[in-house]
Amino acid sequence: MPRRKSSYSQLAIVDRNGEADEPIAKKDRSLDFGGRWNYAPALEANNYIKLRDRYQLFINGRFVAPKSGEYFDSINPATEEKLAEIGSANEKDVDLAVKAARRAYKNVWSKMRGRERGKYLFRIARLIQEKARELAVLETMDGGKTIKESRDIDLPLVAAHFFYYAGWADKLEYAFPGRKAQPLGVAGQIIPWNFPLLMAAWKLAPALACGNTCVLKPAETTSSTALHLAQILQEAELPDGVVNILTGAGETGSALVNHADIDKIAFTGSTEVGKRIASATAGTKKKLTLELGGKAANIIFEDAAIDQAVEGIIAGIYFNQGHVCCAGSRLFVQESVFSNVIRKLRDRISTLRLGNPLDKNTDIGAINSRVQLDRICELVDSGLKQGAQLVQARARLPAKGFWYPPCFFTGVTASHRVAQEEVFEPVLSVMTFRTPEEAIARANNTPYGLSAGVWTDKGSKIFKIVSQLRAGVVWANTYNKFDPSSPFGGYKESGFGREGGRHGLLPYLMLS
Ligand code: NAD
Repeated sequence: MPRRKSSYSQLAIVDRNGEADEPIAKKDRSLDFGGRWNYAPALEANNYIKLRDRYQLFINGRFVAPKSGEYFDSINPATEEKLAEIGSANEKDVDLAVKAARRAYKNVWSKMRGRERGKYLFRIARLIQEKARELAVLETMDGGKTIKESRDIDLPLVAAHFFYYAGWADKLEYAFPGRKAQPLGVAGQIIPWNFPLLMAAWKLAPALACGNTCVLKPAETTSSTALHLAQILQEAELPDGVVNILTGAGETGSALVNHADIDKIAFTGSTEVGKRIASATAGTKKKLTLELGGKAANIIFEDAAIDQAVEGIIAGIYFNQGHVCCAGSRLFVQESVFSNVIRKLRDRISTLRLGNPLDKNTDIGAINSRVQLDRICELVDSGLKQGAQLVQARARLPAKGFWYPPCFFTGVTASHRVAQEEVFEPVLSVMTFRTPEEAIARANNTPYGLSAGVWTDKGSKIFKIVSQLRAGVVWANTYNKFDPSSPFGGYKESGFGREGGRHGLLPYLMLS
């Protein structure tokens, strides 16, 4: 078995019982994946996207240069081309942003009636809808996810979150009847790179609806759409300082967490950083919510509609390059249908199209960064070293950019790293079970508890299993379905607090 390296430009492996297929001849252009005919390219236009050479920080309603004078490069992970330079905020910038947010909170936003706050949120939602196509293209160029995903999932959900929480802004007294709901003050919000604009919407919309002001820090590899959102906030004439957007890496996030005048920290990201933030805020007045990592289990019972289940598994892990906190990266299959499921999985991954994320036919886009790609390669190597068997789609990878062909492991045991660790990978670990009790025990055998999926024909079995799975969200006969009115959040090391729905208001309110 050839060893995968993050720098390889062409690879063709499909392991059948230890045998590797012949690599596809380079000149045979019709056989990119598994011998299927390819569609003609259907590229989403991006020539109208106007990127600035340099993006500044968004503080007090204006774009301002970072005090550090430092900038970092934002690159397109599908081409490794530089898109723009992004300002790097230091402690002084954080202080300016928090002061602007505090002034806006005291003088404007906390005094404004909910009905008026709601109007701003509606306006932002409508502007996002108007610019949805442009934002989707930008999200794809900046983050590497497919245009199918950013156009059909991310952007509609971003607008939906602003619309949904706009509706709550003047109804907080009905959300928690008999209790007085007051905002907390200034919220520091830190988000990851996998759903850049959607995570910003999850954080900003409920906080603003409840009357808080915000300082948001996007992830360093995906800052562009947050900065374009800042332009939308200007267009919506949101009062100065109500939302401030600071770009930068971990140090910027850490300065925000440690600022003395922050009332609440909302963090979405890795469990490792979440733990550091929990200890930094312990013993302070800061309220904290953490949305952390996951290692979701999908469970397929023998009575499930197998084709539908396999399609759900594929969509749940590969369509987003595994870059979803709730990606179903562990699959438990009842022994009696194991070989059938494996055969269908093999067939299906060989038809997935990997390539230019701006092509509307592409199923699998680029990995977000080289660091992320190296993490994936390292984890897959560990699976091979620990004795699991790899089945990987044959893929001719583009010469530039960061790519990883979809794959799955069989022969995995609970102690293998691929069954325990989350690295945000398009890598599925397939295991078996005999009884429902065993499926539950094995699915729960992880430090995480973010999400899970159950596939069965029996409604009663769904209810029985769901009530025993230690996961914040469990989908039945479907996967990765989101709606702004449904709460989302984890158990165990996947964090605490809920985002979405009425529950998503609670972290931003003081109830008396
Ligand atoms: P990460 O923890 O490395 O970074 C997340 C954010 O935290 C980034 O903006 C980063 O700059 C910032 N950061 C880094 N160090 C910091 C520090 N010391 N103090 C403050 N901020 C700091 O995570 P990532 O690699 O960007 O994202 C992937 C992780 O996010 C995965 O573990 C995934 O499961 C998780 N995630 C969870 C959810 C959820 O809802 N539970 C949603 C999306 C992603």
